[in-house]
Amino acid sequence: MLTWKDIINYSVKGNPLPDKRVEKTEEEWRELLTPEQFRITRNKGTEAPHSGALCSSHEAGKYSCICCETPLFDSTIKFNSGTGWPSFTQPINENAIKYHKDTSFGMVRVEVMCNTCDAHLGHVFPDGPEPSGLRYCINSESMKIVKERVSDEQ
Ligand SMILES: [Zn+2]
Repeated sequence: MLTWKDIINYSVKGNPLPDKRVEKTEEEWRELLTPEQFRITRNKGTEAPHSGALCSSHEAGKYSCICCETPLFDSTIKFNSGTGWPSFTQPINENAIKYHKDTSFGMVRVEVMCNTCDAHLGHVFPDGPEPSGLRYCINSESMKIVKERVSDEQ
């Protein structure tokens, strides 16, 4: 399980290697994404709180990157943070996410990105629930939910 210490180590010393890389030009991303998805994932935007479609979703499934479809989070580690953005306590795999120290807007925060395609996802904070103590605060527009198939539920 990742803790805040691991996150800081990744943001300072370098991130884990992803299973694969997806790289596209700005034009290719523009064709693939809606303008809002492009603004958030490729230009580090933020959606308005409580606006995202996935914020209050509690459907079982995996949350995948909207850009490259790599699974990022699982619905079982989603929690209601009350912030207005989908919130998780852990990534689905340790190498699914990359971390970057973000000093924009006069704050020091840790930005989280898709480790496969560098899509901006949101930020991670050390004020989440135990046991990890982490709160991944993620834009709905950065993800899509891939619902679990019925045959997997036995
Ligand atoms: Zn991605």
